[in-house]
Amino acid sequence: MTHPIVRFAPSPTGRLHVGNVRTALINWLFAHAKGGKFILRIDDTDLERSTKAYEDGLREDLTWLGLVWADTFSQSDRFAEYDKAAARLKEMGLLYACYETADELERKRKIALSRGRPPVYDRASLDLTDEEKAKLEADGVKPHWRFKLSGNRVEWDDLVRGPQSIDTSSLSDPVLIREDGSYLYTMPSVVDDIDAGITHVVRGEDHVTNSGAQIEIFLALGRTAPQMAHTPLLIGADGQGLSKRLGSLSMGELRAQGYEPMAITSLLAKIGTSDNVEARTSLDELASEFDFGKIGRAPARFDEADLLSLNAHILHGLPFEDVKERLAAIDPKAADEAFWTVVRQNCSLLPDVSAWVDVVFGDTAPLVDVEDKDFVLQAADLLPEGELTAETWSEWTNAVKAATGRKGKGLFMTLRKALTGQEHGPDMASLMPLIGRERALARLKAA
Ligand code: GLU
Repeated sequence: MTHPIVRFAPSPTGRLHVGNVRTALINWLFAHAKGGKFILRIDDTDLERSTKAYEDGLREDLTWLGLVWADTFSQSDRFAEYDKAAARLKEMGLLYACYETADELERKRKIALSRGRPPVYDRASLDLTDEEKAKLEADGVKPHWRFKLSGNRVEWDDLVRGPQSIDTSSLSDPVLIREDGSYLYTMPSVVDDIDAGITHVVRGEDHVTNSGAQIEIFLALGRTAPQMAHTPLLIGADGQGLSKRLGSLSMGELRAQGYEPMAITSLLAKIGTSDNVEARTSLDELASEFDFGKIGRAPARFDEADLLSLNAHILHGLPFEDVKERLAAIDPKAADEAFWTVVRQNCSLLPDVSAWVDVVFGDTAPLVDVEDKDFVLQAADLLPEGELTAETWSEWTNAVKAATGRKGKGLFMTLRKALTGQEHGPDMASLMPLIGRERALARLKAA
């Protein structure tokens, strides 16, 4: 295969969420696996709903995820190209003026349905004479413009779905230009794919029907269509669609909660595929494992519990150097290599370190049951002399055991709770040198 050229084409009308990030990621991984090119196209033909802030936001999100683009352009800069293509289609009689109002179309739809016929546009406007059209326009009716489908079957071999066949006689001729002269997404996308030399269109399966019409537009404009790959949509752990929850699954939200980009990309690259869901440390690694053949036909299940456990796994192996600035931003005391190496095992999200900062450096209140008070005070007197080291915990607990006869949970858990105020946490032998003698004694004596 020659080097593929792919594009991710979001509309800047909201934040990126896990659904569209998965599409971006699959495009990126495919391009990188094959030495190809990943282009970011901004689909901002809807000038009312598109905002610069959302555009900046999506560029920021992609950059944060590491999904860098080799090239980028915006549809709003290319209206002249769309005008040229529209003029060509009109000249060929493939883009025709229609004058029905929304109400009329709705009425026709209902009639067709009530007669048990598919609600396909009847092409009535195609029969209008020039005089009739001139009269309508003189009356102030502005046309919208439809692309005339061939009525044949459009077929392609989808890289995910296999052989596809769409009967265009069962579709309404798609509107390409609205009454106000603005373009819908359908034709500009084709014109851009032609001009950018796109070799593969990779997107969600909600676009399969669009592909039928778009392939015919490619042909009408004298080109063969790119290869197509339509990926199944995401569902939640409950088997329901994610549409209502996408706000909380936006990159802005996940980033604010402290998720690692590689947890998100590892999960999104693997769900719905024959590979196991496992954490990876680089996009290159994910790219080397990418293959359209691994993507199944069933919806891909996105479970936040999986995201959290991948995130924890990534944190547990994350070197201090890679994280020290973010630790410092959470709490300057957390930017300490020894601290990080000990507590990372107990963090699922980076901000979890805050709780351990309190345990290690703060004035955490000891957790001591009334009946353990004397025991803990006695243990305080047995704390070995000098600085606390990695050996202190075993020396100390041996001494306390010998002096009091306590063992097991009554010994270890009681001292852990007295020193950390917690029932769970990092290994005490590693934690003690961080807590240090002074704080340890103060906590034990506070019992
Ligand atoms: N802007 C379109 C969307 O977000 C792009 C679809 C495509 O990839 O062609 O759905």
